[in-house]
Amino acid sequence: MTCAHALSRAGIHVQVFEKSRGIGGRMNTRRAEGWQCDLGALYFTASTRQFQDQIDLWIADGTVVPWHPRLAVYHGRRAYPHRGKDVMRYVGAPKMNAMLSCVDGSFPLHRNTRVESLERRGDNWHLRITDGPMFPESFDAVVCAIPAQQAIPLVKPWSAELSRTASSVDMLPCWAAAAHFEREVRTDFDAAFINAGPLRWVARDDSKPNRPALETWLIHASPRWSKDHLESTAEEVSTWLMQSLEDLLGHRPSSCHAHRWRYADTAVPLHVGAKWDNDTKIGLCGDWLSAGKVEGAWRSGTLLAEQMIQSCVSTLPASHLRMLSIMR
Ligand SMILES: Cc1cc2nc3c(=O)[nH]c(=O)nc-3n(C[C@H](O)[C@H](O)[C@H](O)COP(=O)(O)OP(=O)(O)OC[C@H]3O[C@@H](n4cnc5c(N)ncnc54)[C@H](O)[C@@H]3O)c2cc1C
Repeated sequence: MTCAHALSRAGIHVQVFEKSRGIGGRMNTRRAEGWQCDLGALYFTASTRQFQDQIDLWIADGTVVPWHPRLAVYHGRRAYPHRGKDVMRYVGAPKMNAMLSCVDGSFPLHRNTRVESLERRGDNWHLRITDGPMFPESFDAVVCAIPAQQAIPLVKPWSAELSRTASSVDMLPCWAAAAHFEREVRTDFDAAFINAGPLRWVARDDSKPNRPALETWLIHASPRWSKDHLESTAEEVSTWLMQSLEDLLGHRPSSCHAHRWRYADTAVPLHVGAKWDNDTKIGLCGDWLSAGKVEGAWRSGTLLAEQMIQSCVSTLPASHLRMLSIMR
């Protein structure tokens, strides 16, 4: 979305294809029956001035707020106060992907539309849509802003170099779950890192600002446990994670909804920023190319847009730039 927004601000006609109903990908918030829970990214931080400046703009427009959780670390069955480096943590408000609402609307967005493959006809790119016909319009360039493993089948027939880049990283799964309690769970922390066993992280979702005041806890299983249970059903995983949470907090959740992230995080992310192949006019961006996390995804999208605009500038007279259209 960052890349699409930057391109469209440069006068390039962009269309975005999203396989899900909602936007924001792994910055997902599940909403149902009066509760909500951030099932993907927990929060984000800024390590660079540029991303901090962007966060400050989001704070100014009210879509991002700081989150000050009381943090703990579990060693064995005991929780200790977290003594790690004090970093500023931010969340979207009222849901994690709230900041995307200001870019949504800047370009056509096709939801529930999964791009199955890319086809080249002359100088144009055509998109084959899963369970549907070929998309009727053609494009000058294509950006794959998706996890590495999902990008491989799209780029492999066209670029050995891009395919090699995507194949060079390993992405780890994560089973996440939202657990609901009838009554308040009293703890002296809002969120805890867990160093052993099936769980990696638990957090009281309603300790984040602007959330419904319902006792809802997020559970993230560890990469190891998630890998071992990757093909289990959501019902099975809900049962196991509910039990683990009860063991930890001493209270039984009344219900639980599990979600599998097949490609949650990059084992060892690349530090190349983004990839633009000027011969094929295919670009790759995403967290896995730029040190990981929300900040990496934002930086990667920004960098790719800059590279694409630069390549337009070097091949076209400046006056033509605003007329250039990704969509024919
Ligand atoms: C459980 C979990 C915990 C996390 N915790 C943190 C955290 O605490 N802090 C942090 O900074 N980051 C965290 N992250 C990582 C963060 O969410 C990601 O780094 C970031 O959101 C990646 O953004 P992206 O745009 O690169 O990719 P994505 O968010 O994966 O976006 C890719 C989009 O492309 C869509 N898509 C994929 N294939 C196709 C296709 N063929 N056709 C059409 N659409 C397609 C997907 O549906 C998705 O919407 C976490 C992630 C998970 C899953």
